[in-house]
Amino acid sequence: MNSNYSRRSFLNKGAAGALGLTLFTNFANDLFAAVQKQNLFSAPSDLKITDVKCAYIRSGHSLFVKVYTNQDIVGHGEAVDATPGTYYLVRMMGDRIKDENPLNIHRIFEDVRRRGFFEGAQSGMYIAVLTAIETALWDLAGKALNLPVYQLLGGKHRDKIRVYMDTALYQSQLPGPEDFANSAKEAVDMGMTAVKFDLDQYNDPKKYDHYNWTASPGEMQRMYDQMAAAREAVGTEIDICADMHGRYDLTTGKRVAKMLEPLNLMWLEEPIPAENSDAYYHLSQSTSTPICAGENIYLAHGFRPLLEKGSVDIIMPDLQKAGGLGEAQRIANLANLYYVPFAPHMVASYLGAMASSHVCASVPNFMILEWQIYFHKNPMFKEIVHYEGEMVVDGFIPLSEKPGIGVEINEEGLAKYADKEVPFFA
Ligand code: MG
Repeated sequence: MNSNYSRRSFLNKGAAGALGLTLFTNFANDLFAAVQKQNLFSAPSDLKITDVKCAYIRSGHSLFVKVYTNQDIVGHGEAVDATPGTYYLVRMMGDRIKDENPLNIHRIFEDVRRRGFFEGAQSGMYIAVLTAIETALWDLAGKALNLPVYQLLGGKHRDKIRVYMDTALYQSQLPGPEDFANSAKEAVDMGMTAVKFDLDQYNDPKKYDHYNWTASPGEMQRMYDQMAAAREAVGTEIDICADMHGRYDLTTGKRVAKMLEPLNLMWLEEPIPAENSDAYYHLSQSTSTPICAGENIYLAHGFRPLLEKGSVDIIMPDLQKAGGLGEAQRIANLANLYYVPFAPHMVASYLGAMASSHVCASVPNFMILEWQIYFHKNPMFKEIVHYEGEMVVDGFIPLSEKPGIGVEINEEGLAKYADKEVPFFA
């Protein structure tokens, strides 16, 4: 870190043509004082990317990248889900952005995206890897300029980010209505004001056919009973919502959404896969239950048809794979033109949670961010990322004011859980 470099070079360059002028000297002195107050952590115009390295956990489903620079400032980023097998993709993108100034975040994003036009840069793994790298650039820029990421994104609308608890009450374990009620109460006792449940159940004994996507009346009744128990447990002032993971057909989606109407859900999530915006339009038109979708949609391009057609009531991009923090802001702003709330999906670590929070703070139409019960039950998460204290306080994430994202990878801790078949930050 060289905090002297920029003000010295500025004064040398600026003073050359105006030596002897009192007016300028006063001006220069004032400016010198102002620049001195600004704690630059680097020489931003001379920053260069020197390398990009990565590590994986959860069988490749969580990717952590580290962007290195010539001034020893590093940035951390994370991507999820669409990441297994992407080691060489990280290395390739890293080579492509080497020697670039990491502060040109939007340009680097656009260069990498355009260069990958024939390599799958429309969605999937390519965009997920780009997301992790782009996120690391924001972290790096914040550290170089001594500003939190939300400030680089244009400032904040709010100081704390409302979250909902994903109960991870997996249907494979055949939870009953009483389990839903207990999980809902547990989340509320932890300070949460909103809770989400999964309703899709592959091994439901009431299912007639394991291959088609049509739920039987018994399955639908089971879904209703589970959500009714959750509603009864928490009362009318807590938000509840349900996820069907895109595992049903349109007729089932319509019937379940209709059936759940009396329970006043915050939303019903992806009863059908999200790639057909016409089907979603018919679904959302058929019910007063708000319909939410988008955790597997990439880039603002991907959200455009859903928004233009009025196919969904709420969008839920995953900010650890949809294209990065800048693209997430563009997606939110696009949704805002249609008065559609932005409620990001989040299945990452503390790093992804806080990175998402900066975007959520920066846009007007943020509604709520996903939070996971695993943060409270699985000690791995505290070991892999440095974070002092609890990230969620009374159902909200207080926004970090530290430079960058405000959360650091703990390489020693991460190494314990890292996938061994790929190099670890090498
Ligand atoms: Mg979901």
